[in-house]
Amino acid sequence: MSTTTSAGRAAPPTPRDDNKATGRWSVPLSDVLVDADLERAATDVVRSGWWSMGPRVAEFERAFADLLSVRHAFGVANGTAALHLALLAIECGPGDEVVVPSLNFVAAANTITHTGATPVFCDVIGPDDLTADPDDIEAAIGPKTRALLVMHYGGHACRMDEILAIAERHGLAVIEDAAHAPAGQFDGRACGTLGAVGCFSFFSNKNLPVGEGGMVVTDDEALAEKIRLFRSHGMTTLTWDRHRGHASSYDVVLHGFNYRLDELRAAIGLIELERLQERNRARGEIVETYRRALDGEAGISMPFGPRDGVVSTHHLAVIVLPEGTSRQAVQTALAARGVQTSVHYPPIHMFSAYREREQRSLPVTESIAERLLTLPLFPHMSEAQVAAVTEAVLASV
Ligand SMILES: *Cc1c(COP(=O)(O)O)cnc(C)c1O
Repeated sequence: MSTTTSAGRAAPPTPRDDNKATGRWSVPLSDVLVDADLERAATDVVRSGWWSMGPRVAEFERAFADLLSVRHAFGVANGTAALHLALLAIECGPGDEVVVPSLNFVAAANTITHTGATPVFCDVIGPDDLTADPDDIEAAIGPKTRALLVMHYGGHACRMDEILAIAERHGLAVIEDAAHAPAGQFDGRACGTLGAVGCFSFFSNKNLPVGEGGMVVTDDEALAEKIRLFRSHGMTTLTWDRHRGHASSYDVVLHGFNYRLDELRAAIGLIELERLQERNRARGEIVETYRRALDGEAGISMPFGPRDGVVSTHHLAVIVLPEGTSRQAVQTALAARGVQTSVHYPPIHMFSAYREREQRSLPVTESIAERLLTLPLFPHMSEAQVAAVTEAVLASV
């Protein structure tokens, strides 16, 4: 169990060696709260006897679509499936190129590759803003470019006005990887609803955790219909509809997948969704405490200061270490104090599976990638845990 009380401010962190996933860390990188509401929701699904996609998924999709003010939302197996469906819906395939930042989780590049298309990597803006650089996006566009796949890094919206203008100039689709950004905003609109298709992940360490799960959103009727079909084998009716007697047979109209979400995850998702915005705000307060303690101290900087029109979801607390610092040494020193850290992200173009390709030069990504460090962040972190992290960082750099 968590060491925090329901007030969220509790005992100083002590190393935990109980059976929880956070294990030996006094301050884990992320953590979920388990309570009676979640247990009851899961038990209700188990007892209902209907476990695969059905009414709870439909309810979760409706609630998610309402929160984002978007017409269509499709619950899917995970965020990677969401990205794959988005690319399939815009008919991305062999011979196409998709521009995508290299400083990113690998899912986007892998799914682009699975469609037969080629990822073309672009750079990020700089140490203060780790989202895709609009100028370099435009420089990466060529005759084969079909789409731009941008990512709201850490829940901070990309420069969507510039990116949408570039896409329009070149006749390209924009897909938003909003895995970090549920309920984030850009100029009053929800992240994930500005481009053609938005993709979300509900993996356990994301802002809306259900275990494994995701959502695809769009306002476009034709794209929605394709996403619906690709999600479930290209079949024209669902098991749930046939179970209810609403359909007795089906046709298969394209070569789809089984990327469906199930009722257990949807039931958990409905509860997590109610708590999402309050928890995003709690994350933001912790990030502000980090910023006051660390930004500008000992050569450390913290990207993503407040920006007009952007409502961040504060998925990640990332700092940029001083030039010449050994990140590994800092991570080891922090681990010795029970503080778990991570790196978001090792650039994709440097992985074995990608580095053989002909590459564009990505000077900003290459100059800062080795200096990025992700600190613990979860909504129910205690003040003592936050203080333990800042003290440990200042002692370790
Ligand atoms: C988590 C994540 C994904 C993939 O989501 P899964 O649910 O793990 O498949 C894709 N993109 C980004 C930026 C992510 O953080």
